[in-house]
Amino acid sequence: MKVILQNLTKKFPGRDRKKQEDVIAVNDFTFEIPDGKLIGLLGPSGCGKSTTLNLISGLLKPTSGRIFFGEDDVTDLPPENRGIGLVFQNYALYPHLTVRQNILFPLQNLKGKDKLSKAQMAEKVQEAARLVQIDELMDRKPGELSGGQQQRVAIARALVKMPRVLLLDEPLSNLDARLRLQTREEIRRIQRETQITTIFVTHDQEEAMSISDMIVVMKAGVVQQIGKPQDVYDGPANLFVAKFLGTPPINVFDGTVRDNTLYIGNDAVLHIRGVADQNVYVGIRPEGFVLQEHGPFGCSLRTVEVMGRDSSVVCTNQASLNPVIRAIISADNKVDLGQKLVRFSLKPAKVFLFHKETEERIDFTADAMTAKEGESL
Ligand code: ADP
Ligand code: MG
Repeated sequence: MKVILQNLTKKFPGRDRKKQEDVIAVNDFTFEIPDGKLIGLLGPSGCGKSTTLNLISGLLKPTSGRIFFGEDDVTDLPPENRGIGLVFQNYALYPHLTVRQNILFPLQNLKGKDKLSKAQMAEKVQEAARLVQIDELMDRKPGELSGGQQQRVAIARALVKMPRVLLLDEPLSNLDARLRLQTREEIRRIQRETQITTIFVTHDQEEAMSISDMIVVMKAGVVQQIGKPQDVYDGPANLFVAKFLGTPPINVFDGTVRDNTLYIGNDAVLHIRGVADQNVYVGIRPEGFVLQEHGPFGCSLRTVEVMGRDSSVVCTNQASLNPVIRAIISADNKVDLGQKLVRFSLKPAKVFLFHKETEERIDFTADAMTAKEGESL
């Protein structure tokens, strides 16, 4: 079931009585969520993710705009008539009911032609439990389950009616790191198996990147970019998106384009084509640095963090907007900690330029420089 948002807007009246300024939690969203895909709604806390989800679920009414499930305009339908399954961060299970009764609950409320026999209900409960692999826990109460197991029950309960759209609001936030990893893979598997269009809300970019077919990056109620996770990572629309995706985060510098050359401080780091002379923000992904004895870009070495497969070369540079720069290199590369200066060449595909005022990305083509200008190899 594809989901279409059309100029969807939600304003909340301002909480500050003196100012009376409305909060525009969702500002003119127009996009289509393709049938059978898993979409990650991603952005920092307060950017309007839950509001968007609650508009799609029908728990909130939009200020303006429409919502379609396939051809159906569901904008004025109450949640129970939309055919949705909802999962929240805090499982919200009934503590006095067993796992089986919790999953059964949504089926018992079906009325009229949708009403099911006891046998039909039992079969659907069993099927949902099997999907999330909790068949053995059916007679326990929520209090006798781990957080991960409780969240599986909540997912089973959301799935038991085979919803047209599954909505998950930060479902992994209450789980510890290992369980989070495991449960997100589970959600991906369940989604693939059921092919239910799924919208997954998270503030965790790694989580969204790892399981989504498509991500929608939001900031302050405004959609910044929509695309496949890797495409967005490799081609961020603006500085905000570039900074929001990736760990360690992108390194940002003040830079200058002059005579087809990109300068960071006094270092000429790339040959550039297609950009007029101007001051820019330069974003360099941590994996965009190559240690090179005569590399064009010099940084002061702070330390090296060894992380098994990779090492993080931590350094500083006067033009950096972050307190430290992190360059990720293979752990096979040994860095002499005695040296004060490290030199890098840059991988052009890992370098982005942004307009100083708009912070939009500037298109360019570039070649790496192999040596600092004026210095012989
Ligand atoms: P997120 O889920 O991305 O953290 P929310 O959708 O919960 O963000 O909130 C988006 C914005 O709308 C925030 O500024 C929040 O304070 C505001 N907001 C959310 N719900 C209400 C409400 N019921 N009344 C007033 N403001 C709200
Ligand atoms: Mg939220």
